[in-house]
Amino acid sequence: EPARLIAPDKRGEDLDVTLRPQSLDEFTGQAEARANLKVFIEAAKGRGEALDHVLFVGPPGLGKTTLAQIMAKELGVNFRSTSGPVIAKAGDLAALLTNLEDRDVLFIDEIHRLSPAVEEILYPAMEDFQLDLIIGEGPAARSVKIDLARFTLVAATTRLGLLTTPLRDRFGIPVRLNFYTVEELELIVRRGARLMGLGVTEEGAREIARRARGTPRIAGRLLRRVRDFAEVAKVEAVTKQIADEALTRLLVDNLGLDQLDKRYLNMIAVNFGGGPVGIETIAAGLSEPRDAIEDIIEPYMIQQGFIQRTPRGRVLTAIAWKHLGLQPPEDMEA
Ligand code: ADP
Repeated sequence: EPARLIAPDKRGEDLDVTLRPQSLDEFTGQAEARANLKVFIEAAKGRGEALDHVLFVGPPGLGKTTLAQIMAKELGVNFRSTSGPVIAKAGDLAALLTNLEDRDVLFIDEIHRLSPAVEEILYPAMEDFQLDLIIGEGPAARSVKIDLARFTLVAATTRLGLLTTPLRDRFGIPVRLNFYTVEELELIVRRGARLMGLGVTEEGAREIARRARGTPRIAGRLLRRVRDFAEVAKVEAVTKQIADEALTRLLVDNLGLDQLDKRYLNMIAVNFGGGPVGIETIAAGLSEPRDAIEDIIEPYMIQQGFIQRTPRGRVLTAIAWKHLGLQPPEDMEA
């Protein structure tokens, strides 16, 4: 199955590396988060202490990893990176932790996917900078405590609700990232085009920004595909028309929705009369994992006002019916 063009996952991420902002000042958008981080970083540096543990929460592709890297740079410390599903055993995490130096940043992506056994050893590490390890088995087993460097854990998750409460409580600095505005994405697209040596008109950049689903990673991906079209068409610069043609051929509609988004909305509209319908039913109908729907499709649908989540399930709004070009049910309030 071909990768979704707008899927905010990390496939082909190496291509994105060149576009990654390198400092807080270069980072566009998330003004509030940025301002707060700046203060905390300066304060920690002033005291010569490790920064408190930071938890980034938000949909994929909004810049959680990028911000974690920037934080290490601004703190002037090492950046070590891993992710929840990669840490299989407690020993894997112990190896990472014992290699950290004072004030280093350890980044754990998808922290909600840590196994409970690994989470157990993370608690004392975060709180007391100590490892509690059990060595040996049976009657010969004994517990040893190992002192760790005073590090900063920077973790990322797509939804706060996926974390256990004790883990959540151990982060002194929770930071929520929001979808970007079209204006912010336009700046990101123009910066990306500049770095790629690609000409783009103001309206061309705006068109790509409008269709990037509020997500910088998607903006970067759309920009690359549009560049391909522009090169083949031998045009000097990406205009609104070129951008529109390219994105329409790629089946990204005028609001940035792709085929899967459309299938999702159509399923609720056509099969369930607009809802309410439960997430499990939708997942079964689309043959997509529930997590992917909740992490990738729904946040943007909710932000755009296409669906509402009610206690009885998802309900399509009047805006969604209109966007699908379908007639809403008679009893629906406008
Ligand atoms: P996440 O960790 O939240 O999934 P990333 O930090 O990996 O997201 O960001 C995805 C891509 O989007 C990065 O490669 C980066 O190039 C780009 N990006 C993210 N945030 C910004 C931003 N504020 N300005 C410019 N580019 C950004």
